[in-house]
Amino acid sequence: MKPKSRTPRPKKSLGQNFLVDGNLQRKIVEAVDPQPEDSILEIGPGRGALTRHLAGKCRELFLVELDDELADGLSRELRRLPGTQILNMDVLDLDLSRLTPEVEKLKVVGNIPYNITTPILFHFLQRPRPREMVIMVQKEVAERIVAEPGTGDYGALSVGVQSVASVEKLFKVPASAFRPQPKVDSMVLRLTPLRPEPMTGPEEAALRELTRIVFQQRRKQIQTILRNHPRWALSHQEVELVQERTGLDLDRRPEEFSPQELYRLSGALEVLRPGEHRA
Ligand code: SAM
Repeated sequence: MKPKSRTPRPKKSLGQNFLVDGNLQRKIVEAVDPQPEDSILEIGPGRGALTRHLAGKCRELFLVELDDELADGLSRELRRLPGTQILNMDVLDLDLSRLTPEVEKLKVVGNIPYNITTPILFHFLQRPRPREMVIMVQKEVAERIVAEPGTGDYGALSVGVQSVASVEKLFKVPASAFRPQPKVDSMVLRLTPLRPEPMTGPEEAALRELTRIVFQQRRKQIQTILRNHPRWALSHQEVELVQERTGLDLDRRPEEFSPQELYRLSGALEVLRPGEHRA
């Protein structure tokens, strides 16, 4: 009889593409630069590709893994390692401030599941935000995150991330570095939340709302959107007033506005039509 395999089969539904290239595993952990006083959180440790290079190099290591079998395997392997906590749960349900009183000092790392990349990013970029994130995402998603105004990749994701964090492309990871092999290449990014906070909580919520709405109609002039959308329903005079107050040309399309310009616009709109934004 064939012995029962101890390694569970990769689950596509959980985005399980395991990084098997040892050099790249090390390179990602080097980018995190673990220090003895650090608290580090790994999203989706899986079979421990990154974890084994992090273990023993920091004060606290939180491992958040949704897959029961993989979480179990990690607990067996790491249970004697001081400061290590395995959280067998959905990372999107994780409340960072309940995990540690010093979220602002936390470093986050992860080869994150492709199917929930955007929700994970927005979850970790809510307040309080960690000190930095070194994350591997699909190359195409990385291009959208770092995209500049006026390019086809620029959109709500670029504005959402760039308005609260600086983003650095670190290196590319080819599909051949994973098992099973995905269809696309990946990219490792470093996201460093801006300090001090560039906006208040309500300003951030207002910008998010504006961004979400205008990028649903990215080919229209922004003034057309602001006149037609029930959230603002601006009159012709109000459009002119906003142009005057912000110095922005509202004949342009959303994709031509930088995150700073959208922030300026959102501030002026809040004066005219206050929303119900809470911190
Ligand atoms: N870190 C490992 C590596 O580099 O080989 C695994 C990376 S794999 C792309 C993504 C990992 O995230 C898997 O282990 C998967 O089970 C886990 N995962 C998927 N969805 C998750 C979720 N919502 N919360 C926590 N972990 C999740």
